[in-house]
Amino acid sequence: MDVRLKMCIHGTSDDFVTVHHELGHLYYDLSYRKQPFSFRNGANDGFHEAIGDAIALSITPEYLKKIGLIEQIPPPSADIPLLLRRALDKIAFLPFGLLVDKWRWQVFSGEVKPADYNKAWWTLRDKYQGVAPPVDRSESDFDPGAKYHIPANTAYARYFLAAIYQFQFYRAMCKEAGYQGPLNRCSVYGSQEAGRKFRAMLELGQSKPWPEALKQMTGEDRLDASAMVEYFRPLLDWLKQQNQGVRTGWTPAADPMKAAAQ
Ligand SMILES: [Zn+2]
Repeated sequence: MDVRLKMCIHGTSDDFVTVHHELGHLYYDLSYRKQPFSFRNGANDGFHEAIGDAIALSITPEYLKKIGLIEQIPPPSADIPLLLRRALDKIAFLPFGLLVDKWRWQVFSGEVKPADYNKAWWTLRDKYQGVAPPVDRSESDFDPGAKYHIPANTAYARYFLAAIYQFQFYRAMCKEAGYQGPLNRCSVYGSQEAGRKFRAMLELGQSKPWPEALKQMTGEDRLDASAMVEYFRPLLDWLKQQNQGVRTGWTPAADPMKAAAQ
């Protein structure tokens, strides 16, 4: 199958991952194209966002060497910086991925009134992310509007779910490929078995409830962050050591719209 992306692209590792993400949507579309019309969609919208990302997790240093994008494979000691970089994408994203729709659902339900839209936003930003605005905010500002998906009315919980599903898909593919070793070093590049397993789930489209589609591929029938924890285990252990005796977390802000102390 020959599919193309129309995208303004730069030769960066971020864009290399984005290409995989977008192609994931296309290969999902193509895989369920033989389903009846009403089943031609993702098992849920979190699945659709997770397909390409699950593949992109196979972009390991070994893989990059194999395809000629790097000349030397970094030593095992590079695992921590590589995992840290990936954690900034995948872990640091989780609280934000969750709060966007939490805010929207509070607005849609009427729980938050228009007079408090911005305050509700910063309350969630403080609660889940522990961040404060760089300058004082008020209700004459509308900061949620700066996130594309809010004015564009695009659901957002899908990205939160996808951040977790992708590690479940990836772990299942690594298993199917017969990989043994630390999960973060697994690449299923070239594995027919992994591809077949993934494709079989993609072909289901929306014809089965998502827990069944997930189970067929992973043996798990619920959203499960244990694959994510397994992937980041070396980093988690390292961070625990680094943070020994250090107080982590934050106390809720008295006024979440007040700028962080300079
Ligand atoms: Zn997407």
